[in-house]
Amino acid sequence: MKHKAPKKTCAGCFLCCTYVTIEIDEPKTVEDIDALFWYIDHGLTVFIDHENDWLVEVRRKCDYLTPEGLCKIYEDRPIVCRDHEPDDCEKHGEGDVHKHLFANRKMLCDFLKKKEKYWKIIETSDILKGIVEKFGS
Ligand code: SF4
Ligand code: SF4
Repeated sequence: MKHKAPKKTCAGCFLCCTYVTIEIDEPKTVEDIDALFWYIDHGLTVFIDHENDWLVEVRRKCDYLTPEGLCKIYEDRPIVCRDHEPDDCEKHGEGDVHKHLFANRKMLCDFLKKKEKYWKIIETSDILKGIVEKFGS
């Protein structure tokens, strides 16, 4: 199949070279929920996207991004970079990918307290329940 050239360009933008996202399973156990705190406490962000998938976001520029916003290894860039097209990226089309964003303990606890299915898990652990009650409003 012939590859269609994207209609939009990245000119002046290098947003998607400044972070990575890693999909994680939806939390179903005390350990799963506890791990969310572990990620957030290390400065990572957890979010749920518009397909209700859970992801961890690491805000870190690629080592091969130049100060001018160019790719130093363009000919040898990973496939994931080649496949990411500006027509449906977060700048031009898709928009904000975060349906729910948890950048700190309070944001996560406020969300977990409101969702019965997660609260049922939390209630089984005194430690986790104590954390969520302390940091959530
Ligand atoms: S794909 Fe979109 S977000 Fe990424 S650099 Fe190009 S314009 Fe920016
Ligand atoms: S390899 Fe190049 S295109 Fe891919 S993230 Fe790094 S700078 Fe951006």
